[in-house]
Amino acid sequence: MMTNVKTKPRQSGMATRRQCHVCGGRTEKRATVCEGVQMIDGGETRVVRICADCIESRDFDKRLSAHADALEAEAALTRALIGRLSVPTVQEWRRVEAEEMAGSVNF
Ligand SMILES: [Zn+2]
Repeated sequence: MMTNVKTKPRQSGMATRRQCHVCGGRTEKRATVCEGVQMIDGGETRVVRICADCIESRDFDKRLSAHADALEAEAALTRALIGRLSVPTVQEWRRVEAEEMAGSVNF
């Protein structure tokens, strides 16, 4: 059963920026963050966080829909990569990285 998710402001500690579950953006390092708990089938829960931009816009459902559309589009692009990636060996990777590091030291 889908239940409503009640969010409320709480002190954030301003330590880090985190994902906004409404728009997919990031919260700012502010003193207050808005969070709630979403119940998931099987008794699991997850924290739902809302950024200041979304709180000010009050346009939650439109932003949630756009965010979900973007996630679905990204998922389709990710699935399209399955079985199609050509990737350098670890040795090739490390050689280029070492060359890059050697070239970046300019004293
Ligand atoms: Zn947001």
